Amino acid sequence: MQKTQVTTSEPDEHGHWGAFGGRYVPETLVAPLDELTSEFMRARADANFLRELNLLLRDYGGRPTPLFYAQRLTAHADGAQIYLKREDLLHTGAHKINNAVGQALLARRMGKHRVIAETGAGQHGVATATVCALFGLGCVIYMGAEDVRRQALNVFRMRLLGAEVVTVNAGTRTLKDAINEALRDWVTNVRDTYYLLGSALGPHPYPLMVREFQSVIGREAREQILSATGKLPRAVIACVGGGSNAIGIFHPFIGDQEVRLIGVEAGGRGDSLGEHAARFHSGVASGGGRVGVLQGTMSYVLQDANGQIATTHSISAGLDYSAIGPEHAFLHDAGRAEYTCASDTEALEGFELCANLEGIIPALETAHAFLPAIRIAHDLGRDDSIIVNLSGRGDKDVQLVADLHSE
Ligand SMILES: *Cc1c(COP(=O)(O)O)cnc(C)c1O
Repeated sequence: MQKTQVTTSEPDEHGHWGAFGGRYVPETLVAPLDELTSEFMRARADANFLRELNLLLRDYGGRPTPLFYAQRLTAHADGAQIYLKREDLLHTGAHKINNAVGQALLARRMGKHRVIAETGAGQHGVATATVCALFGLGCVIYMGAEDVRRQALNVFRMRLLGAEVVTVNAGTRTLKDAINEALRDWVTNVRDTYYLLGSALGPHPYPLMVREFQSVIGREAREQILSATGKLPRAVIACVGGGSNAIGIFHPFIGDQEVRLIGVEAGGRGDSLGEHAARFHSGVASGGGRVGVLQGTMSYVLQDANGQIATTHSISAGLDYSAIGPEHAFLHDAGRAEYTCASDTEALEGFELCANLEGIIPALETAHAFLPAIRIAHDLGRDDSIIVNLSGRGDKDVQLVADLHSE
């Protein structure tokens, strides 16, 4: 099939990127989602809102984050210059605060005093509890029982920040079940409650809104690489869970056809369904990533031959979700972005490489991007550059890696 060149990626007014996205929700959520959409559209065009957002991102979040030339990783790759966009230096340790600050401002603007959110590993829960403390908003975080057990320290952090953490015992007791509970709460309490969703997922306007709040990463990175090297990078690489850090750094480069946009999914511990979270990975015998609806949006979803949502596995909890944000599905099918995956073992290798060569311990999510990035850099010239989005820091993962070493 002849592919038309994609130079922009704006959804239509109903949040559709081609066949993807949209809003597949119970009737009771249609009016609140409409209200949220119009308030967001007004806010993004309001100079006062943007001024306050930018001030908070600067003085509270720590923006702009540096674009760091990774000299020893570059020498190791023996090719293009590797630059790291340092989202790990932000308050709470990852890009998630960009979106949490933006949506909390929106919640306050809408007069909602109670904020709810879902969390998997706990990173989005911590970011949300943080901004709720900052704004004096009530905060309830839904978290699967399995994740509560695995991420006890983040549960304690959220409680310290004043949030109530609700343990979800349904289903596989992980992120998907936490999102279901949060949606159920929202349906019941929609008048005074704001649902602060954590990735570029869910019904319209969330995928668009989260992308807009995260695009600050790509806007900064584009300016920074131009001033450091005088030209655009050959590739921009990011790990992809729901897809928010990746779409945030990709989006300002979409019109730059010469810049390859590469997402790295979790290849887990094997190719069969249930062993990974690579939604774009083809060749899974018993099903795999196919177009379907999950939690309000149309996208690629890991499912078995009967359309049952598949379980997933990844060494990093943040990449471990059965679906991917709809804009990524669109960019994938349009051929504008490429997607590859890295296994648990490759992620651990990337984790240690980055720590050893650059003195930066990355999040295990981020660590998936390093081996693919090194391969891409190796095939390019020394005058070229690539950017890797260093989505978060690895403090939260050190214990897990230590346990693996002692096994
Ligand atoms: C949550 C998280 C991710 C995955 O989420 P996206 O929405 O795909 O960005 C990646 N890296 C870090 C550090 C995270 O905390």
